[in-house]
Amino acid sequence: MKDFVGGVLKSKVDFGVIPGSDKPSLLKPGAEKLASFFGLRPVFPIVETIKDWTGVDHGGEPFFNFHYKCQLYRNGELVGEGIGSCNSWESKYRYRSSNRVCPTCGKETIIKGKEEFGGGWLCYAKKGGCGAKFKDSDKSIIDQVTGKTKNVDIFDQVNTLDKMAQKRALIAAVLIATNASDYFTQDIEDFIDVEYHEVEPIPVAQPELAPEVPLDDVAEMPLELAESEKTSKGQLYGTLSTSTLSFMYKAISGKPQTDELQRKLTAIQTILKHRGG
Ligand SMILES: [Zn+2]
Repeated sequence: MKDFVGGVLKSKVDFGVIPGSDKPSLLKPGAEKLASFFGLRPVFPIVETIKDWTGVDHGGEPFFNFHYKCQLYRNGELVGEGIGSCNSWESKYRYRSSNRVCPTCGKETIIKGKEEFGGGWLCYAKKGGCGAKFKDSDKSIIDQVTGKTKNVDIFDQVNTLDKMAQKRALIAAVLIATNASDYFTQDIEDFIDVEYHEVEPIPVAQPELAPEVPLDDVAEMPLELAESEKTSKGQLYGTLSTSTLSFMYKAISGKPQTDELQRKLTAIQTILKHRGG
């Protein structure tokens, strides 16, 4: 696990670190890599779904709630599960914050002009505005509704809510099934998610394909010897899946090489070559 976290998982993609928190938060791509590494197959039974499109049962306001269980199976055996839910009344989906819009250029770049510069309103060029100025009393500015407003486009987000619930369930289950909670937390995952979406969207990650392991000109060792090599948790290499071995190869080969690590690399290459990789 330590090798995998240090060698394969990437900061800001697979996990996010918030200054001041003691543990990084596991993100979806990291959870998927861990699941793949440990040979875990997720299934998502629905616990509850509410889709009240007209708000008839919720005081006139549409309401959506998705609640999933994530079960992780290894070779048909259930090895861990977690739950996750997401609903449209969470404040980040229910509300939007809107700023004053410039009547001239249409951008949300209006600021209050400083008194020493004559007050009024200014379309602030440093925020990308056009520099237009407006009087303190200008109705086209002061009549605008600003601040927290109800998100009237919640219907665009139904699929996002559904995916978010599954994501939360997956991360919870992976943390449990892989003992990764020693390294990661889930608590602030959404916070990070929001932060990063504003800067660089996280691509919807497909489970990562196992890395290529070079198999040409391998100094092979006897297969029995290779398969009897053990991980730090005592698992025999011969019992590990091809993709797990490939991820391990990638993790190990990124480290300063010692005789022991070189032997492990050769063992993986030997096994994969024998499996016809
Ligand atoms: Zn403007």
